[in-house]
Amino acid sequence: MGSGPAGLTAAIYTARANLRPLVIEGEPSSTSDQPGGQLMLTTEVENYPGFVEGIMGPELMASFRAQAARFGAEYVTAKATRVDFSSRPFGIWVGDEGYRARSVIVSTGARSLMLNLANEQRLLGHGVSTCATCDGFFFRGVPIAVIGGGDSALEEAIFLTKFASKVTVIHRRKELRASKIMQERAFRHDKIEFLWDSTVIDVLGESSVTGVRVRDVITGEESDLPVVGLFVAIGHVPNTDLFKGQLDMEDSGYLVTQPGSTRTNVEGVFASGDVQDHVYRQAITAAGSGCMAAIDAERWLESQLDAPAHIAQTPRNW
Ligand code: NAP
Repeated sequence: MGSGPAGLTAAIYTARANLRPLVIEGEPSSTSDQPGGQLMLTTEVENYPGFVEGIMGPELMASFRAQAARFGAEYVTAKATRVDFSSRPFGIWVGDEGYRARSVIVSTGARSLMLNLANEQRLLGHGVSTCATCDGFFFRGVPIAVIGGGDSALEEAIFLTKFASKVTVIHRRKELRASKIMQERAFRHDKIEFLWDSTVIDVLGESSVTGVRVRDVITGEESDLPVVGLFVAIGHVPNTDLFKGQLDMEDSGYLVTQPGSTRTNVEGVFASGDVQDHVYRQAITAAGSGCMAAIDAERWLESQLDAPAHIAQTPRNW
């Protein structure tokens, strides 16, 4: 389940092991739980080994997908709506359509956090965005703001300078969480400005964004910043609602795996990638854990005397 670096690496490995993987890959949307995962919403990936000049995130994921398909992985382009891990073979549903699997690898990733302001939600797609790659093009020659102080915020800000007249990074503290190299790039960019110690308390505009209302967290003073685009880049939450009550998870929602493996609390169900990793969260670590999950699943299936080596049956209605 899931088609980011973890899910598709698991698909490549299980397909090459003749386990006939069926990838429930999600459905296209503007959020980071779409097929291909968060790399579909990123620009250039410069740190994935093997790509000296870097590669665009969507291009990298298209290659992963094609590679798994080459070895026989099959895809369902939809989101799973229900799972039943209480008995084997396990059940996964997409609406009324049900699938059985002898083993399941959960790689549903994580998605963008939002500020949870009413007008942020209302103006999503009308100036509010979580994806610079998707929407940056619409903000040519106009001022925009990015919220956050991590690598995502600075990556978005730097990318958006290609289009916007000015990019204001609004951060709630005076120190950035982002890596030093990203900080240096952002600080020396003449189109990027920083608004420190500030939180966005409202998004302004009727049919599209015209500005943001900002509060200085030290003085309490409020002011309006005129921008026509607002990019929210304040972190992520794991996509684990579907597994509540079935798989052990931390309070933050991240799935719990046994140390040194991808095993969950349910025998035969494995978890890989950002859905169980809030520490490293890199494409390469997600891919690595997808590989681990495939090997764990293969070994577990081999250990089941009565189970032929199939991860997914041919899709069929229940
Ligand atoms: P992150 O590191 O968790 O940073 C989130 C930022 O948003 C923090 O600065 C945080 O402020 C701020 N924030 C959180 N909630 C907020 C709220 N409600 N209102 C205002 N600000 C809020 O998340 P990320 O930037 O998405 O990065 C996640 C991981 O991916 C990191 O490990 C990062 O290194 C990695 N990453 C790497 C790259 C790259 O190498 N090219 C690119 C993107 C991401 P505080 O600092 O005050 O907590």
